[in-house]
Amino acid sequence: MKTLKIAIQKSGRLNEKSVELLKNCGLNFENYKSSLISPVSNFPLEILFLRDDDIPEYVQDGIADLGIVGENVIRETEVKVSYLQRLGFGKCSLKIAVPNTNEIESLADLNGKSIATTYPVILGKFLKENNITADIRTISGSVEISPGLGLSDAICDLVSTGGTLKSNGLKPFADVMSSEAVLIGRAGSEDEDLVKELIQRIQSVLRAKETKYVVLNVLKDNLSAILALLPGVKSPSVIPLAEENWVAVHTVIPERDFWDRISQLKQAGAQGIVVMPIEKIIL
Ligand code: ATP
Ligand code: MG
Repeated sequence: MKTLKIAIQKSGRLNEKSVELLKNCGLNFENYKSSLISPVSNFPLEILFLRDDDIPEYVQDGIADLGIVGENVIRETEVKVSYLQRLGFGKCSLKIAVPNTNEIESLADLNGKSIATTYPVILGKFLKENNITADIRTISGSVEISPGLGLSDAICDLVSTGGTLKSNGLKPFADVMSSEAVLIGRAGSEDEDLVKELIQRIQSVLRAKETKYVVLNVLKDNLSAILALLPGVKSPSVIPLAEENWVAVHTVIPERDFWDRISQLKQAGAQGIVVMPIEKIIL
């Protein structure tokens, strides 16, 4: 039987979340920091631990069937791979930033200026689309210190909280792209049964992450008001309680409007609300 290979980041911002996702899919493997390759004992899969920059090309060339990597890296390497699934972690944006004291106020002000970045391909396209002629200085790291050293007028770098920019006296100025970790596959791999199986497992873990299981008690008289607040995946279960006139309602609600929904439920008469994480949702 064929063994798939999935490439993930060896160490860095995406490593931990990638390992966690695969473990939550029920895959059993050792996460040795020292090894390049780790076999999965209960699925025909091997995990390759690589520098993130190498992942898109390994997948394009078929050395790995699948990969987990930031969209920013895929766009920069311009490879031909299939996007299989957005993964909801590693969120960040590629932004142009300028020193706080700088007079650059509009994109047009970047004409004739120099911009330091580790993303020359993406930045080059962005400038071209916006008819800006600027000097792109490609450097391999610590981009944020380059204006302070007089190496460039602006930078183009990944930002998540903006803390690094702030501590270097820089302000974000224009959004170039937003990014998150994605599952990519060799072109055509999405039609293979093993790949489909793995994607289904990943999707069931992601779905579960987005929802909570909620149990609450309510007086029968207030039940219709509660049900009106719970448009749920399917209709919620209503179970009679030993105490007359009371029922328990079981349902799932989306994580994103969790707190709003809970306070509305309380106002409508819900009591003893218990909220539980869900491990997997298989449709
Ligand atoms: P490697 O050693 O594997 O080449 P790296 O130093 O290039 O690692 P990391 O800094 O670990 O990369 O970032 C990996 C990915 O995490 C980025 O490509 C990006 O998609 C994502 N990311 C999320 N937030 C940020 C952030 N604030 N800064 C940089 N990358 C971020
Ligand atoms: Mg890298």
